[in-house]
Amino acid sequence: MLQCFAQTSKQLVVVDALVWPDSTIFARMAAKKSASVRVKKAASIPVKKSRSSPSHRRTVVPAPIAPADALTQLRALAMNTWWSWNEIARRPFAALDPVMWHATKCSPLSVLAFSGPSTLSAACDENGFRLALADATAASNEAMNAPSWWSRTQAKKHPNTLIAYFCSEYAIHESVQQYSGGLGVLAGDHLKSASDLGIPLVAIGLYYSHGYYIQQFAQDGTTKVVYPVYDRRTMPVEETGIIIDCPIGTDTVRAKVLRMDVGRTKVFLLDADLPENKPENRLLTEGLYKGEPELRMRQQVLLGVGGMRALRALNLAPTKIHLNEGHAAFAALELLAEFRSNGLSHDDAIERVRARTVFTTHTPVAAGHDRYDAAWVWGALQGTLARAGVSRAELEALGRENASDEREPICMTVLCLRLAARVNGVAKLHAEVSRAMWKSVYGVKRASAVAITSITNGVHVPTWIDPRAARFWRESCGFDPCAATPRNSGWKRAAQAPIADFWSMRLSLRTALVSFARERLTRASQRRGENPQALEVCANMLDASALTIGFARRFATYKRAPLIFTDIERLAQIVGDGKRPVQFIFAGKAHPRDVQGQAYAKQVFDMTRHPLFRGKVVLIEEYDMAVGRALVAGCDVWLNNPIRPHEASGTSGMKSPLHGGINCSILDGWWPEGFDGTNGWAIGSAKDESFSETDAHGAGQARDARDALALYTLLEKKLVPDFYDRGRDGLPRKWIKRALASAATIPDFFSTHRMVSEYTTRAYIS
Ligand SMILES: *Cc1c(COP(=O)(O)O)cnc(C)c1O
Repeated sequence: MLQCFAQTSKQLVVVDALVWPDSTIFARMAAKKSASVRVKKAASIPVKKSRSSPSHRRTVVPAPIAPADALTQLRALAMNTWWSWNEIARRPFAALDPVMWHATKCSPLSVLAFSGPSTLSAACDENGFRLALADATAASNEAMNAPSWWSRTQAKKHPNTLIAYFCSEYAIHESVQQYSGGLGVLAGDHLKSASDLGIPLVAIGLYYSHGYYIQQFAQDGTTKVVYPVYDRRTMPVEETGIIIDCPIGTDTVRAKVLRMDVGRTKVFLLDADLPENKPENRLLTEGLYKGEPELRMRQQVLLGVGGMRALRALNLAPTKIHLNEGHAAFAALELLAEFRSNGLSHDDAIERVRARTVFTTHTPVAAGHDRYDAAWVWGALQGTLARAGVSRAELEALGRENASDEREPICMTVLCLRLAARVNGVAKLHAEVSRAMWKSVYGVKRASAVAITSITNGVHVPTWIDPRAARFWRESCGFDPCAATPRNSGWKRAAQAPIADFWSMRLSLRTALVSFARERLTRASQRRGENPQALEVCANMLDASALTIGFARRFATYKRAPLIFTDIERLAQIVGDGKRPVQFIFAGKAHPRDVQGQAYAKQVFDMTRHPLFRGKVVLIEEYDMAVGRALVAGCDVWLNNPIRPHEASGTSGMKSPLHGGINCSILDGWWPEGFDGTNGWAIGSAKDESFSETDAHGAGQARDARDALALYTLLEKKLVPDFYDRGRDGLPRKWIKRALASAATIPDFFSTHRMVSEYTTRAYIS
């Protein structure tokens, strides 16, 4: 285990460098620059000597700083979540109180809130800390004002552009619990890329006091749903002083407008937990996807209608509104009401709304779209609809596929399709499925006549790339993986990476993951009160040199987490081969109301206890961004086996190639676009599928069996032989070639820098 023993004048701390690699970096940096910190490497993991971050590296020792001044600088850094993707801005917090840093999921504000004044004044005596603080402050000031892709190429032509981006969740960092899964991750990554590229975009969302639930597995593998209470002081949100009124039904709900800074991007979050609101209305912003459908609908009124009102109260006049998923559909109706109040005729107002609205749909499964009883919607939106001059019949015409079907509920997606001129799916295949699915809304016979295009998802590279991998690409391949440009052709150089160095980088990431997993498994075992032998077992699980396959995602049933366990005997053969060991690391949360998804989680949990798999198949609880980062960095293979075509895009598979990981996936979501035959593996084929919705039971069993068979065959014939086919130097050349092809071909395109620039040119400014 790689640990840093950092001895400061006040404390002796053991920092687990593997929970967050920053600590290694800090320790190395501090060791170079401060005589009072000594660093010792405890294990024999090959960590290459390297220069620290390329820019903002100071050679002069900064002047003494008063604790009060340091605190001001630290607060300014902590309040802008720019730190979440810029390691340089996290360093001073890790240095200030390393124990608190790790105990609080690396939350800068928690470190400030919970570490005492003596810690701060002690830190101010340290050269290393002062350097880290000065570097962080300089780098962040520079980044906020740096010229950007937008300022260089678009700003002059489109001077008044302002995009308002609506989403029900934002995943910025694991310590900011305002997300549940992929949608939030995509939205968070969108905002970060908008900041890096300088795109004039503000975001609207809700501020959830409980966030999403924390997942724990009980002794028997059942899911425990825990809602912690978060200390407001630890959340990087600022009061704006603005309170809006939002009509919901016959109530006027008041909501505070909070601001979260994501680099240059501002996010405005509505908080209805105010004493003047009725108790049931205070619950509107209690939790994410929590509660009955009617509460969910009312939340969405607050998001859409309240969000538009917040923009007005802030004096922001967006030139486009981007509804990311149907949750914020009501924003378009509030916009309609605005245009009508300004005197536009009904038809003109509808046209203006359509021209101004961009909609991204995320669900290729008909049942996955939010639908609410028409009477509820009519009741909840009465204020807005009266101002918009929309009758009950028109509401139904806008929100139903078939307006005259009395029983049909109002569908949020249908509303968006009718009120947005620009509509896109999140991958080519998904757009194709969506066109077929929504023909009736567009009143056309042929799917090709449906105006739904695709803008394929991506990931924000600086957020997801492990600092060790980033350093490898910079130093061994000579390109910056985090360049703030729409495309990054530097990735092509990955194909020529020095293979021995690449393989030792892979080993160090896999080793880090094994330690991370052991620590998490031990912690969970401890919490369950298991006996010392069980703890001992956890501490020795997994093998840092074995072929490591990762599966981490929401445990939605269509993702089929337990598919690999279809034939236990066959899997046992693969996993149990002493000469060519294979291991699986699982993580994933099911929605608290998704009984089947939780049953899947339990099934995987039970398998981790099976004598044939113990220590070789593990399940890490509380899948969050930190677990995600550790897994996508350390796993050799990223496994994805959804029911095709139910995965709209999927993004976790885009994070793995940043580290030279290889995808092994059903040809669903983004993978048909990403896979070129040499940069990963496809499970099964795309040919024999129709786009009709296959039911999960009857025909489903045959399909599952067929996909499982294809997966076993791949494992036995390709993955395992390639991984263990070693030259005399111990290097698996064939494997490395595929891994480098994965890095050379995938991250350039499947990044949110490319995605956001595409939204910009194709939807925001056209
Ligand atoms: C990337 C990521 C997701 C999205 O992954 P999918 O492949 O779409 O399932 C969800 N949750 C977390 C924590 C992630 O990091």
